[in-house]
Amino acid sequence: MHASSAVDVDLALVGGGGAASLVLAALDRHGVSGLRVAVVDPVHKRGQDRTWAFWGLPGDDLDPLLSASWSRVDVVTPAGRRVLSLDPLRYAMLRSAPVYDRAAEAERRLDAVRISAPAGELRDDGDRVVVRDPDGRDLVRAGWVLDSRPRRPKRPGRTSWLQHFRGWWLAADRPTFDPQRAVLMDFRTPQPQRGVSFGYVLPVDDRFALVEYTEFGPALLDDAGYDAALRAYADLLGLDLTALRVREVEDGVIPMTDGPFESRPSPRVVRLGTAGGATRPSTGFTFSAMLRQADQVARALAAGRPPVPAPAYPGRHLWMDAVALRALDRGHVGGVEFFERLFDRNPPERVLRFLDGVTSPAEDLAVMRSSPLLPMTGAVLGDAAGRLRARLRR
Ligand SMILES: Cc1cc2nc3c(=O)[nH]c(=O)nc-3n(C[C@H](O)[C@H](O)[C@H](O)COP(=O)(O)OP(=O)(O)OC[C@H]3O[C@@H](n4cnc5c(N)ncnc54)[C@H](O)[C@@H]3O)c2cc1C
Repeated sequence: MHASSAVDVDLALVGGGGAASLVLAALDRHGVSGLRVAVVDPVHKRGQDRTWAFWGLPGDDLDPLLSASWSRVDVVTPAGRRVLSLDPLRYAMLRSAPVYDRAAEAERRLDAVRISAPAGELRDDGDRVVVRDPDGRDLVRAGWVLDSRPRRPKRPGRTSWLQHFRGWWLAADRPTFDPQRAVLMDFRTPQPQRGVSFGYVLPVDDRFALVEYTEFGPALLDDAGYDAALRAYADLLGLDLTALRVREVEDGVIPMTDGPFESRPSPRVVRLGTAGGATRPSTGFTFSAMLRQADQVARALAAGRPPVPAPAYPGRHLWMDAVALRALDRGHVGGVEFFERLFDRNPPERVLRFLDGVTSPAEDLAVMRSSPLLPMTGAVLGDAAGRLRARLRR
């Protein structure tokens, strides 16, 4: 043990990826000063390793960092194309590089200590938390720890799916994309036997766009499988791939599960990001919840309060997601039908706010009513029985 070499801070960010970067930026935004901060991560995140797409109101401090934003998006099914007007919201695209740069700038301003080592165990005695490395050496002693290291849910979910995808950043020599129109979800892709697939298009300008193929389901594809699916989707869009360059490839896997993520494992440790339950089980969307929680953390610290955000989603939304995942997984409802009805029978703003977890119970009821009710009821009963069985086993 090298207890004497450990750094003493007020706040340690363990994991310095998306969630931590948004916290650092929020601390800066709220003018927090005099707080001793450490960031523990073996990797110093820089550059482009992911693209975040999310919706929200225009006019926050991320606006100058956005690569593009759209006030209308298309949802396409074999039955037709719906153009959703998102006003007053907008769908936005944020590449990771400016977010990591913004976090680095905030780190400098806060004079944060950067520890480029993996963290292991966190020892919380209720007053301080000791962050150890995997060999048991003390790295940091902190008043509070925000831990966003990737981890599995506390218990396996009753349904455990993955959102997995590959995107190509396509560059053209002449106008090829319509920068005014983003495609949110295009369900004309061949549907997998179990799960749901869709493509989407996020144009930055008329010559540069992210074209992506995504599946929600229990199993990943292999490398050739993603390429074949993307080629087929590009064909469907009428894109001539021989005339386009693939500038970057973006792969990702995001959990979609009703397994519980513990957000407060001990008194002074708070989990954030995917590890803290910020990933919406029914869609894999995470960014908005991370952004919201980062703001709550920074506000609390600025006011001298503990940095504990509200849960990422209300319990009733997690229940609804568990039911939806179960219904999709057990084949009670088809994926395309599920999303088609959601967008068909609700104003777009309600759907998007629901997916972000910020709708009222009355709005939730309206969303519930728009889903295929009978099969969903079967899934509700199945879910209740599953919960009861799990509780009895415990
Ligand atoms: C390619 C991709 C695209 C995505 N696009 C979207 C999107 O469009 N919209 C959306 O809402 N969500 C999206 N997501 C989901 C989600 O927003 C991201 O995964 C987001 O980065 C999650 O943030 P995080 O902080 O939880 O995890 P990460 O950003 O993965 O950060 C975790 C950090 O923990 C560090 N770490 C690991 N082990 C240790 C250790 N032992 N000690 C210290 N640090 C450690 C890692 O180095 C990493 O920096 C996407 C995910 C991926 C992978």
